[in-house]
Amino acid sequence: MKPLLEAIHECPLLADGAMGTQLMIAGLMQGNCGEEWNLTHPERVLAIQRAYAEAGSDCILTNTFGGSRIMLNRHSNGDRVDAINRAGVAIAREAFRGKSGYVIGDIGPFGGLMEPYGDFLESDVRAAFAEQARALVDGGADAIIVETQTSLEELALGIEAAREAGAPCIIGSMAYDITLDGSTFRTMMGVDPECAAEFMERHGAHIVALNCGTGMDMERARQAVERYREVTALPVMVQPNAGQPKLVDMHVVYDETPGQMACGVVPLLKAGAAILGACCGSTPEHIRAFRLAMDEYLEYESQTV
Ligand SMILES: [Zn+2]
Repeated sequence: MKPLLEAIHECPLLADGAMGTQLMIAGLMQGNCGEEWNLTHPERVLAIQRAYAEAGSDCILTNTFGGSRIMLNRHSNGDRVDAINRAGVAIAREAFRGKSGYVIGDIGPFGGLMEPYGDFLESDVRAAFAEQARALVDGGADAIIVETQTSLEELALGIEAAREAGAPCIIGSMAYDITLDGSTFRTMMGVDPECAAEFMERHGAHIVALNCGTGMDMERARQAVERYREVTALPVMVQPNAGQPKLVDMHVVYDETPGQMACGVVPLLKAGAAILGACCGSTPEHIRAFRLAMDEYLEYESQTV
């Protein structure tokens, strides 16, 4: 199989959909440790990821979003960083059994603020990301994504960790929120897409990305792709949520249907997105709809060239 970075130069790839909301459907209680399931319920994690592979995903993110020591400590799993992350890679690899695909090791935010805004030491965050990145790379991940990032300081530590672990491909992914007046979007910490893309490129990311966020639908994601591409030639990856979260009977619900989201696939490809996936609330059905829209478009493109 070609390295991921080579493959996306030839053809855009499809990533997967949500893991967190799928784990809840599979029985994970709110507030419990989903990453622990890599060890305690690997078959449930595998079932979700296999559904994505069967729906047509070319890339699957490991179930390790909260797999850093700082996050795992909140669930008394701090001594299982290595095992949880390696198992995460192995399960995602197993999901592809019988077909080729890329396993992207997932590093999410450490879940706090660093000094001087919060009480986490930069050195502790650096060490936590380094430990997680090492486990993911040693486990055999094809790439590492440092995702749902809102601050450049934390993003830099994640990218640095991936680089030092020897990750063959590093993806930096920001979570943007639409501003109150609806005119633009930036991260919670005030970072705009141009600034993030330039920063990621300078720090050695190979792919610039966005995921999650608030109000970042497929059209907003397309705008972000354009803004990234104005300042960098690096490939772009996008994973928008399935609409805005709504609270229904004390449950968070995402109500954008596969058909609604799939309408945004071709515009994203035309804007130049190299990897397309989806974040919170999306399901294997969303990914299947993406696959259909993507294949139709790529087929059409190949005939018109
Ligand atoms: Zn999300």
